[in-house]
Amino acid sequence: MNIITDPKELQKQCAAWRRDGLTIGLVPTMGYFHEGHLALMGRARPLCDKLIVTLFVNPTQFGENEDLDKYPHDLDGDSAKAKSRGTDLLFTPKTTDMYEADHATWVDVPELGKHLCGASRSGHFKGVCTVVTKLFMLAQPSVAVFGQKDWQQLAIIKRMVRDLNIPVNIIGHEIIREPDGLAMSSRNAYLTEEERAAAPAIRKGLVKMAEMVKNGERNTEVIKTFLYNEYASALPIGTVDYIEIVDPDAIEPIEIITGPVLTAVAVRIGKARLIDNILIEV
Ligand code: AMP
Repeated sequence: MNIITDPKELQKQCAAWRRDGLTIGLVPTMGYFHEGHLALMGRARPLCDKLIVTLFVNPTQFGENEDLDKYPHDLDGDSAKAKSRGTDLLFTPKTTDMYEADHATWVDVPELGKHLCGASRSGHFKGVCTVVTKLFMLAQPSVAVFGQKDWQQLAIIKRMVRDLNIPVNIIGHEIIREPDGLAMSSRNAYLTEEERAAAPAIRKGLVKMAEMVKNGERNTEVIKTFLYNEYASALPIGTVDYIEIVDPDAIEPIEIITGPVLTAVAVRIGKARLIDNILIEV
């Protein structure tokens, strides 16, 4: 596995591969790999000739009081894991190589960023769209894999690719969970033992709520109130950032459920802000 830090070198390597008729697959990440990341690599591997994993903690998608400086990292461990899943090239640029001091161009999909994480993390998706566009321009992959854990991000990237005619096939991969149901996340590393023991209640609440819908409840206010109460009793250690029930593609809140909906939550536990979601098809 080759490790490249220079964007120009990445561009050159990818151009050479494409000239040789080889297809490129891309898995963008911020590193500190867990089985969720590795599942995306496993999904992309058979879909391309050359698999590129990018590891870049993108500063433009972090807000001022967020965890940019504390974000966990382990380049050696990550390299070994990426290699073990068949990655051909690990791209780990420096911030100054990705953003010139006078960087002035942004990509944004504001229509899909009004709710959920877009509402509580102002500017987050503008940073995500911009860096993902840059990675697409550098590597020009034919396929890219993203996790459904960040459902809103996936919906926004699909829309961006469609609207800007970017020739890449976007694949969403299911959420990989710990045995107790907690969605895997690099940020789980922030949890104390006590917080970690409580955190599976996030998923349990979502599953209970989905049962309620399956049993016929269609009023999302009633369902959201149920989930708020559920978290208040089963997860007193957590603070709910949001609970929303939205259209899975448009990411717009729904009042009465008549078709598939996504329930998405963000909960702060100690130093971690954890997100999870469940797709409910009625
Ligand atoms: P991150 O490094 O957290 O930015 O995540 C990189 C990619 O991995 C994104 O597409 C995430 O949605 C995806 N991802 C993170 N955690 C999981 C998980 N538990 N299951 C599936 N995909 C995940």
